[in-house]
Amino acid sequence: MALIVQKYGGSSVWSTDRIKHAARRVVAAHAAGHDVVVVVSAMGDTTDRLLGLAREVDPAPPPRELDMLLASGEQVSNPLMAMAIHALGAQACSFSGAQAGVITTSVHGEARIVDVRPERIRRLLDRGVIVLVAGFQGISRETDELTTLGRGGSDTTAIALAAALKADVCEIYTDVDGVYTADPRLVPGARLLRHLTYEEMWELAAAGARVLALRSVEYAWRYGVTVHVRSAQDDGPGTVVSDHRDEAMEPVPVGAGVHAAAGTEIR
Ligand code: ASP
Ligand code: MG
Repeated sequence: MALIVQKYGGSSVWSTDRIKHAARRVVAAHAAGHDVVVVVSAMGDTTDRLLGLAREVDPAPPPRELDMLLASGEQVSNPLMAMAIHALGAQACSFSGAQAGVITTSVHGEARIVDVRPERIRRLLDRGVIVLVAGFQGISRETDELTTLGRGGSDTTAIALAAALKADVCEIYTDVDGVYTADPRLVPGARLLRHLTYEEMWELAAAGARVLALRSVEYAWRYGVTVHVRSAQDDGPGTVVSDHRDEAMEPVPVGAGVHAAAGTEIR
């Protein structure tokens, strides 16, 4: 029995059908005996739409209000996922970032996680409840304000929770089936990389691969969180990011091809 954090990106919860599909995966992991914490991004292009609405009413929205607005996207998708899990007969409870104990700096729009207080989550896990945490947001203790973590911040939420809970793995479910040597939609023959070190993943993320947010890779690296990037649609092997390479691992080609490695996850 393991403790698993599963993160679902915006494209994996684009519609209620996709939410139901993801919920079945969550419930299956729980039924297999694991403790499961789920972090969900806002549905589809919600965050972009909210940004557009903000600019329609104010060309330079106050950062605090922008955070209040943007954080709402994840506050819709997470309770919906909790309900989808409930409809499958399992117990689920969703939290905002603040409720879940995600403590950040006070900089609106690009806050950094400084602490995670997972006691409440742990108590619920011990009672057999599946816990959902709204990604991309937290609360600043200095200002008592809600903050957001920057685009793609749900990856960081998931990995920070995995670190705080000493999870066995943080699974990142996305719309590509792992990390490739190049963008598989553009480059025929691009290969799936089954295993990467943190450093290799960091270089890919820094070069613009959109599979994982750069900050989340740094967090995983610092705390040694094993990350498993997988497709939300099928059951392929995906890509494991950890600090060791086993002997059988192929070297990651460095250069132009790697630079193009990309996911299509909606930010
Ligand atoms: N919804 C936020 C964004 O689109 C956070 C995330 O998806 O990770 O950037
Ligand atoms: Mg998003």
